[in-house]
Amino acid sequence: MLSVTEARARVLGAVRTLDTIKLPIAEAIGAALAEDLHAPHALPPFDNSAMDGYAVIASDTKGATPGHPHRLRIVGEVRAGEPGDVVVGPGSAARIMTGAPVPQGADAIVPVEQTRSDDSFVEIEAAVELGRHVRPAGDDLKQGDLLVCRGTELGAGELALLASMGFSPVTVHRPPRVAIVVTGDELVAPEDAPGPGQIRDSNSVALGSLVREAGGAPLVYRAVADDLEATCQTFEAASVRADIVVSSGGVAVGKYDFVKPALERLGRIDMWKVAMQPGKPVVLGAIGEIPFLGLPGNPVSIHVSFEQFVRPAIRKMRGCRGLLRPIVKARLTDPLEKSPGRLHFVRVRLEYLDGEMFASPTGGQGSHIQSSLIGCDGLARFYAHETQLQMGDIVDVEVWRFPEVLDDPS
Ligand code: AMP
Ligand code: MG
Repeated sequence: MLSVTEARARVLGAVRTLDTIKLPIAEAIGAALAEDLHAPHALPPFDNSAMDGYAVIASDTKGATPGHPHRLRIVGEVRAGEPGDVVVGPGSAARIMTGAPVPQGADAIVPVEQTRSDDSFVEIEAAVELGRHVRPAGDDLKQGDLLVCRGTELGAGELALLASMGFSPVTVHRPPRVAIVVTGDELVAPEDAPGPGQIRDSNSVALGSLVREAGGAPLVYRAVADDLEATCQTFEAASVRADIVVSSGGVAVGKYDFVKPALERLGRIDMWKVAMQPGKPVVLGAIGEIPFLGLPGNPVSIHVSFEQFVRPAIRKMRGCRGLLRPIVKARLTDPLEKSPGRLHFVRVRLEYLDGEMFASPTGGQGSHIQSSLIGCDGLARFYAHETQLQMGDIVDVEVWRFPEVLDDPS
């Protein structure tokens, strides 16, 4: 049996980062940047005012108070968006708005609240030191500074900075098209009523959603019957349209499991047992150049196997820098038991209480217990060599999300 780490390394070795596309900056949320980007100019690009007020020579305000205001002649006005070609000399001031360029000669801003004025003169009622309320050019970033490095998933903050620097369109890796093919004679669509012995196909919905959450573009096929010809046909069609094909079910060696025979006919296949629970069997193959990953059919296994193998693969294809979930230490709220040999992934709810993270198993851990995915915030690792965990023991948890709260607890 392979360890999860070894199996994942093989999966990651079989996929490559996809080519790049250019996207308008406003549409690039979540995409991974394809290159390091450096500042083409300083930010702010010019000295500008942080306040509405008067641009002055700081030394002209020395000793000014409401009782002894200093009277300065108003030589002009600079609004945001204007070039600001007024010149401020000794004994004079220019009216200025927030974001407007500081005029030549001026070296400080007096906020309007500390002045009184008529059309021609302003009375300064407070002293300001040199540079006060001026945002100097390059205060934030100098020309040539590294802005965002390649592999960063662009969030609102990164996108806004890149927009400030004129990077639209922006070059990112394209998301993989992920074909999803579930197999099973017993499956009917979620909209349909199952007949005797049939069940609704939930894995298509699970995988489609997981792919989307991982930043891929799902192509979901109709459930395929347990039949070699039908399986081959769909796998082949999927491999033509997709960057990677992911299947569910039919990977055992039962009489009606056709994933392996289909792959043997269409391309190549590698099948492993991975020392994990749930999700022991994993199939890695290829149809032509297109990688193929076959996951077991059990609804919980799908989630766990997807997490361990498909999500990192999608993230590599997308060009993301980090491929794996963050891990936190959490205190277990219930005891757990198992036999040694396999790494168990325990679905847990996370709660942060009095400065400590707690992990509570979400219920039965059988690979068919779908309700254990409700309220699940991540997977606690019950390591292969371990057999017992006590309440209060510290476990490693792969975090899917931190739960939102109803109220601000502070
Ligand atoms: P298999 O890996 O094909 O042997 O399937 C294992 C178990 O998962 C069986 O109980 C199947 O009925 C169930 N299963 C397989 N595919 C799906 C699916 N798409 N939706 C829900 N359950 C499934
Ligand atoms: Mg099956």
